[in-house]
Order: sequence, then C-alpha cells, then structure tokens
Amino acid sequence: MLSTTHGWGDGELFTRIAKLQIELPRSKYADANAAAAVQELLGGRFGEMSTLNNYMFQSHNFRQKRKLKPFYDLVASITAEEMGHVELVTNAINLCLTGTTFAANPNVAPLQEGKDKRNTYHYIVNAQTAIVGDSMGKAWEGSYVFNSGNLVLDLLHNFFLECGARTHKMRVYEMSEHPTAREMIGYLLVRGGTHIMAYAKALEIATGVDMTKMLPIPNLDNRAFETARKFEDMGLANKLFTFSEYDYRDIKLIWNGNNPKTGEPLEVIIGTPEGGPIPDLEDLPEEFAPGISQEDFMKIAKRLQRAAGIPDEDC
Ligand code: MN
Ligand code: MN
Repeated sequence: MLSTTHGWGDGELFTRIAKLQIELPRSKYADANAAAAVQELLGGRFGEMSTLNNYMFQSHNFRQKRKLKPFYDLVASITAEEMGHVELVTNAINLCLTGTTFAANPNVAPLQEGKDKRNTYHYIVNAQTAIVGDSMGKAWEGSYVFNSGNLVLDLLHNFFLECGARTHKMRVYEMSEHPTAREMIGYLLVRGGTHIMAYAKALEIATGVDMTKMLPIPNLDNRAFETARKFEDMGLANKLFTFSEYDYRDIKLIWNGNNPKTGEPLEVIIGTPEGGPIPDLEDLPEEFAPGISQEDFMKIAKRLQRAAGIPDEDC
C-alpha cells in the first residue's frame, strides 16, 4: 500500500506501508487461466497500471496546483490508492497461479502443466507471478496515459477510464469463480465506483453537468456481485481516503454531501484503509525461485553476522 505526503512546494514524497488494502483469501486450487484473464485488470489498457500512471502523471504535471487545489488533491490522493490496487491485483494473480506445478527432477517435466495454460510467460519468463501485461500477454504501455493538461478533458477521460475499468472487472468476474480473484474484484468494483462518483462530482463542480445521472455504467449495481456486498455494507462506496496524514484534505471540497445513488453521507478519511497482510509466496524449486535454500540462507546470515562483528551465539 502507498501513502503520499507534501502535495506541493516540497515536491512529492511517497511512503510505503507493508500491507495490502484488503486481506486476500487463499484457495486450495490453482486456476492459471483465471490468472491470465485477471492480467487484463493489471496491465490492460483499462487496468490498474493505467489508472495509476494516468493519475500519477496528471498530478505531477498539474498546472496551478494551488489555485485548483481540490482537483489536484483529488487526482493526487487517488494516485496513491491506485498504486495499492496494482499491488492487490498482482498478489491476486500470484495466488491464482499458486499450485499448478510440482517440485521434481527436471527430467520428469515438473512444469508440464504450464505449457497448456494460456499465458506461458507465467511459467517461462516469471516464476509464476504477475507480468506487466494484459490478458493476451501484450505489455502495458505508456501510450495508455492521457494527459492533455486541460482539466475538464483530463477529468472526463478519468471518468471514462474508470467506467471502462469497471466494465472489464465485471466481465472478468463472470469468467472465473476463483475465490481470490472474486474477492479482489468485489473490492475493486466498490472502490472503482467511488472513483467514478468522485470524478463525476469534480466535473459537476467544474462545469455544472450532472454526470451521475448516467450511472452506473454498465447499468448493474455492485450488489449483484456477491463479493462486493460486504464492502458496500462497510460503506466503502461513500469513503475517499487522503492517503496522507497531513495533505490532500481539500478533497472534502469535492467529496461532500450525500451519495446521489443511495442518499448516504459521503465521508473523507484522513490516511489509508486499515489493510490486510501481504501473502508470503512459497519457494518453487522447479522454477529455481528464489534459488536460495534454508541451508544457504543460514550460511549467508552467519557471514553477515561475522562481517558486522556480532558473535554467532547472539543471533
Ligand atoms: Mn483501481
Ligand atoms: Mn480507480
């Protein structure tokens, strides 16, 4: 998870918290083809790499940050949230891939399952982890970033980007019942819905046009998705986080009043969501990853202790 401080004047700083935005459930079964489909939500044109980089560069390049501070604060704080979404989707892909192969002598082809999966990069290029690419293996690219410098046009683009992202999440949800993928998508549908609403409200303030009248796009409530319901019940559709202890608080000038869909009050939370643990992936000897055994590690640890002048018995 990422958090930001010092919006302008001092430049931008990032601080990192060793948590995921939510806890991801682990499943006994692997679904490598589900992982391949979920790649679209990470490195596709409408994936989390795109939302992150669009808002990140728009916020770095923003003109008149002071004069238009509420808009700058909105794009900057959502940037930090999107970094956490990249981390969440990456971990969901890793967990969907866990358990496809087995540790064995190379001559018995322990990676044989990998050759019949849709994305062989997962087995050959990476050690069964997420690639920075889409569901067809195409690498994510910087041309997916739109930053005209015209505030209304950039906000309109962001509204469109979030609606496209929501469409893809709904379709990937319909493609797999894998519990890890579904938990992640349920959460991101709710947070994406919040971002759609936030950009709609920003556009209404800037132009007077009520974008919320055309929502939701697609026209289906988040509650139709089982794993989204508990996040809706937690009120996450009404909360925007500053992702900073001190900065970006002017998002409250945009994020206030009631949710036009439910009538519930909108709330700005100072800081980050509580978060959950980051999964620790087991070693994969058949991928030579990480390639350092427990025995090797003990030798390295002893060498480091001696180099630091710490006697063996102290550690
Ligand atoms: Mn996102
Ligand atoms: Mn978003």
